[in-house]
Amino acid sequence: MQMASLVNMPVYGLNKLEKKQFLTARLLELTQHHYQHCGEYKRLLHCIGETCMPKDAEHIPPVAARLFKEYQLKSIDEEEIFRLMRSSGTHGSQSSIYLDADSAKLQSQVLVKILQHWLGKARRPMLLIDAAQSVQNKNGMTARAAGLQGLSFFGRNHCYALNSDMQLDVARITEFFQRYEQENILIFGFTFIVWQQFIQQLEKLNLKFNLQNATLIHGGGWKKMQQQAVNDALFQQHIKNRLGDVAVHDYYGMVEQTGTIYMQCEHGYLHAPVWSDVMIRDTNDLHLLPFGEKGLIQVNSTLPTSYPGHCILTEDLGVVHGEDDCQCGRLGKYFTVHGRVPNAQVRGCSDTFS
Ligand SMILES: [Zn+2]
Repeated sequence: MQMASLVNMPVYGLNKLEKKQFLTARLLELTQHHYQHCGEYKRLLHCIGETCMPKDAEHIPPVAARLFKEYQLKSIDEEEIFRLMRSSGTHGSQSSIYLDADSAKLQSQVLVKILQHWLGKARRPMLLIDAAQSVQNKNGMTARAAGLQGLSFFGRNHCYALNSDMQLDVARITEFFQRYEQENILIFGFTFIVWQQFIQQLEKLNLKFNLQNATLIHGGGWKKMQQQAVNDALFQQHIKNRLGDVAVHDYYGMVEQTGTIYMQCEHGYLHAPVWSDVMIRDTNDLHLLPFGEKGLIQVNSTLPTSYPGHCILTEDLGVVHGEDDCQCGRLGKYFTVHGRVPNAQVRGCSDTFS
């Protein structure tokens, strides 16, 4: 499939029959592609006894996310590597994702399409809840830097809210809010940083602002938030208390599938865009679970050509609530995330892989 026609698909516009047809063809094509170009992926399929190519998307064996930490999984030659993406990984080893120029371009084009759906095309005054230094990369690009850079595209008059030591610069944000209070400000940051370094600091200092029509986009996981017993509703309430009228959108995504992020709608559900899909699998035997049941989240993406990341089994738990019938009107599956699998690493198909 041509890149241009892939990028120009309607973000939340295919119904489940059309989407299934598109996903099946594309994901099977990618399975074949990675089987031919990535030796480790080929061995993986052989190890789990996949003697012939799967016939539908549900039977494509998902690669456990942690394999991207343990192996250099790529379907391109060394000299084609254009960018190395790394998870921000505060604990243990990081994932390494190898992009060639085409994959990097496709990922950023799709990210732009998804975000334009939510933000429109006009650039807005933008506050980034991070330090300017976080964008600089030493050893490959981190997911955090990629997020900041990707979202910056939607802003103008960028202002970083935190100093290099990650402390809130009160004078700087006060000036920013005063200058742009009446405009549609865009705020972006990683969930825990927004909470701990921004909202909690504003509360400590007893500072409030009265924004009109601002939008906050945040992502990066709830693990640390859950440790502090903060859920989505509480988070949103504290934001609005401190900042005024702010539309808050969480997003779910991972460095292994940069570009195809899952944005949270007005009704609190994360939405699969046309280029990707979520499936829920049983934590014990990995069989597919129906809508409404909680299990491991598998994410499928039609984008990855330079590494075998088109079907990935995450270590996150989630529930798919339905398809094509969210109250917000967007088509596609919609879901919620419910933390990580406790303790044990996911026992995936890949456990036989060594
Ligand atoms: Zn919705």
